[in-house]
Amino acid sequence: MQVVEVDGMMKMTSNPVLSERTLLLDVGYRPLSIVSVRRALLLLISEKAETVHESDHVVRSELLEVVAPSIARLRYQVAAPYRRRAPLHRKAVFARDAYLCQYCGRRAECLDHVYPRSKGGEHEWENVVACCRSCNAAKGDTLPEHSKFRLRTVPYAPEPIAVAAALRRGVPPEWDTYIVNRFRLSA
Ligand SMILES: [Zn+2]
Repeated sequence: MQVVEVDGMMKMTSNPVLSERTLLLDVGYRPLSIVSVRRALLLLISEKAETVHESDHVVRSELLEVVAPSIARLRYQVAAPYRRRAPLHRKAVFARDAYLCQYCGRRAECLDHVYPRSKGGEHEWENVVACCRSCNAAKGDTLPEHSKFRLRTVPYAPEPIAVAAALRRGVPPEWDTYIVNRFRLSA
């Protein structure tokens, strides 16, 4: 019976709300992933998940009217997902570093490898920072221990979900409660 209703609703492929996104939490309210509203509604209707925070959107079919969830929580325990590292993403490095040069604090224009690549420095979150052109040029291939340039923050690898959220436009403010180290892309 429920399956029929879901099918009816899911056939409304033209409904743009279904391709909106829902933040999916685990039983312990930790963020698991960002899923389509379509996927979230399937979980809700099959009672595998519950709504934590409603969105402003309503999905209607002949049989059913549901408020699309902005945040949903799984009702059952899932095996802890293997935490993969987020791939290094240029835009996300700028966002993580608040668009400021991590050496002088001016507006960042490029990325810098703290340990230069030519000296074996890796292209990883922990070795890449936002940088202004003049610091980048002045630092050149100097090793950090031999240069006057000091980092203002310790570069870190963000959670994959924080990167995924940062790269999305129009992330709802209620997600901030659940995504730690949230950072934003500026327009
Ligand atoms: Zn600078």
